[in-house]
Amino acid sequence: MYSESFEYFRPRTLAEAAKLLKKHKGSRLLAGGHSLLPAMKFRLATAKALVDLGAIAGLSGIKVKGKTLEIGATTTHAEIAASPLVKKSCAILSEAASQIGDIQVRNRGTIGGSIAHADPAADLPTVLVALGATVVAKGPKGVRKIRAENFFVDLFTTALKAGEIVTSVVVPSYRKGTGGAYFKHPHPASRYAVIGVAVLVQMEAGKVSLSRIVVGGASPTPVAVDSPEDIAGAISDPLSDTYASGEFRVHLATVLAQRALATAADRA
Ligand code: FAD
Repeated sequence: MYSESFEYFRPRTLAEAAKLLKKHKGSRLLAGGHSLLPAMKFRLATAKALVDLGAIAGLSGIKVKGKTLEIGATTTHAEIAASPLVKKSCAILSEAASQIGDIQVRNRGTIGGSIAHADPAADLPTVLVALGATVVAKGPKGVRKIRAENFFVDLFTTALKAGEIVTSVVVPSYRKGTGGAYFKHPHPASRYAVIGVAVLVQMEAGKVSLSRIVVGGASPTPVAVDSPEDIAGAISDPLSDTYASGEFRVHLATVLAQRALATAADRA
């Protein structure tokens, strides 16, 4: 299966990438290519030109910045899964990244590509909303910081504006006494999340309290709820397909949330 013909550019700087996007009408950014290229081959997406972010220095890597981690947009899922910094500061992010697809997908796919694609069955959006992450994007009007909960707007739709490039994702580190868990029911063929649930709890003075439960895969964007029992009420019109009905998705989300909550409390 072949896509339509397109031009290909591999800029060395962000400024050059921005120029190419502006100059070539109908161009798109290319990161790992694991969502865009299949969509182009199926003719579900078209691009007159691809602007590959892979050679831009400084767009990849994981750095400590105060009480946060700054993760470059082209950092791969495999790098996030293996990072001791991520495991120490916000372990559910590496727990989720390690469950994405298979090793080939994790070696090519990037955090920036995953969130910009905004697939409801993706793992990272759910976890980034739970962690209270911020997406940093650079566009023609300068740099914008967008909270993850406002970034995912609808099915395959984000708050990014034309010409904006995600440069990094800033993730707050766990506070002392935070415990977390990410549980997922993977699709048996693709490993995408039919349902993914991220939970964070806080241990204070020997007592565990719930910080956040976020459910992915049941609705167009991740949904935050107060308890596993609230999921059915909060997701009244769940996504449904031949593999999993809406009712089954809500049931899975409720059960996975209860299990994740117990595990997060153990880890706190
Ligand atoms: P690309 O495909 O290159 O780009 C995707 C979109 O994002 C394009 O529209 C592109 O223009 C845009 N884009 C890319 N980078 C930026 C940027 N920096 N700024 C703005 N826009 C940008 N995902 C999961 O979460 N869980 C899974 O279990 C899972 N399983 C998979 C199994 C298979 C077989 C495959 C092929 C994919 C799977 N994926 C899964 C998706 C995978 O995680 C991809 O990494 C992700 O969907 C897209 O990331 P990418 O870097 O490949 O982006």
